[in-house]
Amino acid sequence: MKLFRLALLLPLALFAAPAAAQDRAPPKLVVAIAVDQLSADLFEQYRPHFTGGFARLSRGTVFASGYQGHAATETCPGHSTILTGSRPARTGIIANNWFDLGAAREDKYIYCAEDPRVPGSTSSRYTLSPFHLRVPAMGDHMKRADPRARVVAVTGKDRAAAMMGGHGPDERWWWSDRGFVSHEGRAAPRSVDLVNANVGEALARPRPSLELPDICRPRSRAYPVEGGGRPVGEGRFARDAGDARAFRISPELDGATLALAAGLRAELGLGEGEATDLLIVGLSANDYVGHTFGTQGSEMCLQLLSLDRSLGDFFRLLDSTGVDYAVMLTADHGGVDIPERDRDHGHAGAVRVDPALHATAMGRAIGAQLGLEGRLLWGDGASGDIYVDRALAPADRLRVAEAAIRAYRAHLQVEAVLTAEEIRAAASPSGPPDQWRLIDRARASYDPERSGDFLVLLKERVSPVFDTSRGYVTTHGSPWNYDRRVPILFWRPGMAPSERGEAVETADILPTLAAMIGLAIAPGSIDGRCLDIDGVRCPAP
Ligand code: ZN
Repeated sequence: MKLFRLALLLPLALFAAPAAAQDRAPPKLVVAIAVDQLSADLFEQYRPHFTGGFARLSRGTVFASGYQGHAATETCPGHSTILTGSRPARTGIIANNWFDLGAAREDKYIYCAEDPRVPGSTSSRYTLSPFHLRVPAMGDHMKRADPRARVVAVTGKDRAAAMMGGHGPDERWWWSDRGFVSHEGRAAPRSVDLVNANVGEALARPRPSLELPDICRPRSRAYPVEGGGRPVGEGRFARDAGDARAFRISPELDGATLALAAGLRAELGLGEGEATDLLIVGLSANDYVGHTFGTQGSEMCLQLLSLDRSLGDFFRLLDSTGVDYAVMLTADHGGVDIPERDRDHGHAGAVRVDPALHATAMGRAIGAQLGLEGRLLWGDGASGDIYVDRALAPADRLRVAEAAIRAYRAHLQVEAVLTAEEIRAAASPSGPPDQWRLIDRARASYDPERSGDFLVLLKERVSPVFDTSRGYVTTHGSPWNYDRRVPILFWRPGMAPSERGEAVETADILPTLAAMIGLAIAPGSIDGRCLDIDGVRCPAP
């Protein structure tokens, strides 16, 4: 049984001759890859089993403890750090969605990658845009330095394309429902039509269960899930003909994304021009698989091994072009398993959150207590940013905030409640991110205009997902290291293998890649620092 893979299209690989990475010309192509929800824990767990693309990258420079250092370990904030050199506090992307209670529109819920200037924009019907991203991304810097540089982003999720592609890429394509799409009115390059046609053909056929490799067998066991969801743990990605949702939540999505990235590279001749080009790839299936099945069953095992193979095919294809390229791979955040299985694996404290902690439920309880009506608290669940309703009289706003903070702090599942005043008063964190306190993590994803009136942080391994009936059984977004710690990998032909144990930030990626290609970044304009790796000369501080 073949997955949607690009290997079939490829000529025999011609490996670029290794050369000493020092004193080399900058690569002609930088390939920046983000794997959605790839925790450092998961990478370590599977590293001995990788034989494809991950194995190749593992022979480059491996930072096993990279950090998305901030507390709001969600997709949009995470992707906003990867190619901007900046933490969410500077990128402005503090969550996937936040509330703007002062907005004129009825829907106060703002999507991180929508263009709010488009009339009728809502968080669910919007025009994709990096409008909310307050900083330039790597492609913007490259084009400013040399307008001949080409920047192409291909991703599974639209927000990944918006955040990593920045404000002016040449091409930005993302998955939507049954194929890859772009901004309205954008003409599709041939490779987009080709990949979409191939996707259509693959989708039209049913997909039998994938074979389970020996490595995955011990993990294949059904676990019941609390909260109304179906058991997970022994799935093998069987799919009915035409089931686009199942296509998306499977290795097929990453295969299609890599096929399009390879197709656009070839069609546009990226890496063959005068300037260094940038190819951005967002691989989103890992996140969908994690949310739908957890991280320790047959499903994630199959997904990671498939992704390893697809990445291997993709790199071999790049080799065959003779283009001098460098790769960086990281993740937007980590993740954690379902509490039901997590408890079996020794995490006794793993539980699902008390639904009474949901902002709406908490607002109702406070209203009953204080004799106030209406929606008093606005929030996106049982943790994260909570906003106190603006329509209340100032004295009532204060009473509601005090009562809510007291109630949250008294709950056994809550680790901390930090007020906006407390977070604002903290200095922007410095030093290694593994040493940061909770308030430092909160400060790194705080924005005075967009953040809530207070921030609720649940205890470690308290899953914010209590209703599993709609298909998601676990999530990320916590300030804990299983969500913060991600691999950061750099590879170039001939690079000396290097294992680096120190804690670094994903904000360090941009200045490092910039130094690799000789791109100047204005001092003080970013949070990250250039990492001293083989073949990179960091600018003097
Ligand atoms: Zn994500």
